Amino acid sequence: MEVLDTLYNEVVGFLGISQAWEILQSGNYSTFKTYDGVVSLIYPIIPLLLILELILGLIYKKPDTKVYKINFLIYIFNRFIGRFIAIAMITICIGLFQKYAPFQTEMTWYWFVYAYIIWEFAHFLYHYWGHKVRLFWCLHSTHHAPENMNLSVTHAHFFLEAPYADTIRTTVCILLGVQPELLFLIMFIDGTYGAFIHIGENVIKDARFGPLNKIMLTPSHHRVHHARNPLYMDTNFCNLLNIWDHVFGTYQEEEKEVKIEYGITREMDSGNFMDVYFGEFVALFRDVIKAPGIKNKMLYIFMPPGWSHIGDHKTSKVTRAAYFKDNPTYITQNKWKLTKNLKSEV
Ligand SMILES: [Zn+2]
Ligand SMILES: [Zn+2]
Repeated sequence: MEVLDTLYNEVVGFLGISQAWEILQSGNYSTFKTYDGVVSLIYPIIPLLLILELILGLIYKKPDTKVYKINFLIYIFNRFIGRFIAIAMITICIGLFQKYAPFQTEMTWYWFVYAYIIWEFAHFLYHYWGHKVRLFWCLHSTHHAPENMNLSVTHAHFFLEAPYADTIRTTVCILLGVQPELLFLIMFIDGTYGAFIHIGENVIKDARFGPLNKIMLTPSHHRVHHARNPLYMDTNFCNLLNIWDHVFGTYQEEEKEVKIEYGITREMDSGNFMDVYFGEFVALFRDVIKAPGIKNKMLYIFMPPGWSHIGDHKTSKVTRAAYFKDNPTYITQNKWKLTKNLKSEV
């Protein structure tokens, strides 16, 4: 039964258990102590957590069915194309740019720290532009459409987003001397942690993780990033180390009295696959068609979402500036962060 075989392979692939299963079958358990063995045990963690989360959702009667359904469709849709294009882009970027790097890192702990800081910077760039350039927002908005948070949101991506992200991240890292082996190791850690930060409130209610919230990016920070509340919009672009959010003034903590509302500000149907996947492209297309002159048409493509040729901007900058005007308490609570925010909101 070929169909059943394919289905079986797909399920095993999704769960990430094929490597561990092979080691178990070989009987050579000492392999679990090697790098490949450890990786084989880490791969299944996120898929298994996703299933646990779904079960807990059913028990608490809060299963976010709409989110799971749409993200499952997206996973299936992307499974066959996006991944292969992304891998091709990484290979091309390494081949093109490695020769221009002024030096090469080695596999030592201090180069690992250097490479991770560079990776986070590259991730910040891709992610920031994903929010601030309307065309890139069309690629990224699929990830922000869900109106609840759970691990299935990890899979909610437009299929061209991974190639776009990996082109920027790989190019920056390779040009700054990060060797491919180290880059792949970081991609693995970052991918696993980047999935984990989408853990839902059904599994971990308060995801600030105590003092850790001060020194690294927690699921709480990423929940803030997925919020459409004016206070939270366009903040926390980092993935594991949030140094670049501090440097560029985009850092924002979850405030107890401002409850997170997930999703995007555009009127949309988050239960409709076509709207979640192509809705922003359609909206951009409409704006470009109705804009007068070639200059305005180009500006719609490259200016931030919410930019308007008649000056009636509804960008996150404008929205946040209005919010801070009405809610000055948030301006004084954390001086460093909010004076920076205010400066950029003018
Ligand atoms: Zn984002
Ligand atoms: Zn996310």
